[in-house]
Amino acid sequence: MDKKKRDAIENIAEEVRRIVMAGNSDNQNLDVYLRSAGVQVKYTDLSDTQIDGYLEWDIESLQPKIVIDAFEHPHRRVFSIAHELGHLVLHWKWVPTMDEFNKNSLITKQSGVVDVAYRRTDGEYTEQEKARETEANHFAASFLIPEQDIIDYVDDEQRDGKTGSQIILDIGERYFVSQETAGIRYRKAKEFI
Ligand SMILES: [Zn+2]
Repeated sequence: MDKKKRDAIENIAEEVRRIVMAGNSDNQNLDVYLRSAGVQVKYTDLSDTQIDGYLEWDIESLQPKIVIDAFEHPHRRVFSIAHELGHLVLHWKWVPTMDEFNKNSLITKQSGVVDVAYRRTDGEYTEQEKARETEANHFAASFLIPEQDIIDYVDDEQRDGKTGSQIILDIGERYFVSQETAGIRYRKAKEFI
């Protein structure tokens, strides 16, 4: 993914965050905010399957529906929700402010399951699907940890004399993300400090 695309996705993710989260920062309650924005979020037992989530159009309610494995780690569940939201926005052109007419035309065009998140990403995807996965992951990280916010936070923590590994731990807690996601966003923020 080139820089232009990365930046565009970053901007879209932040715009969607502003609408969906409405100024709140508690990522652990992303499901609650998304339901208010018109996206169904369900948890179910997928532990016997190779998938840890999927996205579908619910024809009955005319709403997109994100289904997540209830037995994943809570950090992982939130990231998976943000990842599926990324597909919804980037690849299925859903927006939180969409009116009924546009919702209806989207949903009749694409009914049923439109994305499946596999546990093991190697070998399950075509090249185009791999590119979409990368984009959805970048959307999720940008949505959960907005760029300017993380730059300011890392800058403050450094001024307080915290080490890189302490800061990554703190990012994990503050944004409710895994150490892996925290590390990726920490390194990105460092480019600006
Ligand atoms: Zn995906």
